[in-house]
Amino acid sequence: MEKLPKAQTLNMRKHFLCNSCTLFFDKEPLKIVKASKEFMYDEEGNKFLDCINNVAHVGHCHPHVVSEGTKQMSLLSTNTRFLHDNLVILAERIASTLPSSLSVVYFVNSGSEANDLALRLARSYTESNEVITLDHAYHGHLTSLIEISPYKLYSLSKASDFYSCPPYVHIVPCPDVYRGKYQDCNFPENADLGQMYADEIKSVVDALAKEGKKPACFIAESLQSCGGQIIYPEGYMNKAFQYVRDAGGLCIADEVQVGFGRVGSHMWAFETYGVIPDIVTMGKPMGNGHPVSAVVTTAEVSAAFHSLGTSYFNTFGGNPVSCAIALAVMDVIENEELLKNAQEIGSYLLSKLNDLKSKYSIIGDVRGIGLFIGIDLVLDRTSREPATDKASQIINSLMKKHHIILSRDGPYSNVLKFKPPMCFNKDDAVLLLEKLEEALIESQESVSTKANAL
Ligand code: PMP
Repeated sequence: MEKLPKAQTLNMRKHFLCNSCTLFFDKEPLKIVKASKEFMYDEEGNKFLDCINNVAHVGHCHPHVVSEGTKQMSLLSTNTRFLHDNLVILAERIASTLPSSLSVVYFVNSGSEANDLALRLARSYTESNEVITLDHAYHGHLTSLIEISPYKLYSLSKASDFYSCPPYVHIVPCPDVYRGKYQDCNFPENADLGQMYADEIKSVVDALAKEGKKPACFIAESLQSCGGQIIYPEGYMNKAFQYVRDAGGLCIADEVQVGFGRVGSHMWAFETYGVIPDIVTMGKPMGNGHPVSAVVTTAEVSAAFHSLGTSYFNTFGGNPVSCAIALAVMDVIENEELLKNAQEIGSYLLSKLNDLKSKYSIIGDVRGIGLFIGIDLVLDRTSREPATDKASQIINSLMKKHHIILSRDGPYSNVLKFKPPMCFNKDDAVLLLEKLEEALIESQESVSTKANAL
């Protein structure tokens, strides 16, 4: 399966590829040559438990997905200017999982393309350029999206960064009640943090109104992944949507990471708040590794886009092969009851991780829903000082040593991030918990050994 020895692969990568794209485990990167279900295999045949690849949603190289894609590839792959059954069947199937108002589907090839088109739709409908985005958000790599992705270029706390925020982009604090602007530890238990964070949006729309402007949209992931697996406080999304809509703007739910049932209780994470967005974007898991993504909106928003005389065409978006693959992914989600699995395994993990939290003070917070879980590591529970180095040690050495692939994220890179293929089962969960506990103990020991040596 290897075409080159690992050292040569690494050298050629350094030589011929840009170094802006970093590797996982950059000191000793993995060379993965095959994968199946929730496991990846390196060039020596070592097996790794994959806890992070939300793209391989229904399991790496799922046979049904591979077979449907292969069959269609041998028949036809062309663009959407011809009638094709796969295209309309997939559009109907996606729409059937969404509230009835969301009925018009645009097919694209990546999450970035989906969000870029969502911005165009919102700006066309509202005839406004103003976008409200969350601090620490990431919505894609296109120029239009880097502008609204503080995660990559700037954040409220680093206002002096080289890339300044364009005047039509308004960053509001991420509603993170553990580490954000309003933290639960600083307020009485019954304080309405959802309202406090939503008021930040109200301030933006009020300020815009004073200038005679209105928002084009508020865009947010339904659960913020890059910000450190954030679940928004009660009432936040409802109020945020209301303030934006009252001001004439649209609400975009970015479901690129968290859609297609990851939360277990629902197909789409926005449903957990009881809100209905005007535009939903989806990607990553949709093709189980094949590039296929989509934007879904209302007939009114789509009509406004069309009425501008816009002719929308996307060479690869919606080709019959991509549609066959996305349909197969949806078959597997249903046939293998993957939402139910996400709910069961997610609840099990959350309860066991909370047990670990009661034993190990390095765990400051455990949060999650379904198979979307974050473990916020701290040096001190009172100050909540992020344990960034320990998070790195746990992931890059201690868990990797046990062949468990985990990652970390958040503004301080101290949140262990768990978003595995949805076929992750109880045995995998038991192994993960056992090795994580060992890693927590080892990381504590390594600190005391260092302290003794000083
Ligand atoms: N939105 C979110 C929330 C994402 O996490 C990503 C990718 N990490 C994107 C959009 C962009 O997707 P893509 O990389 O497929 O362009």
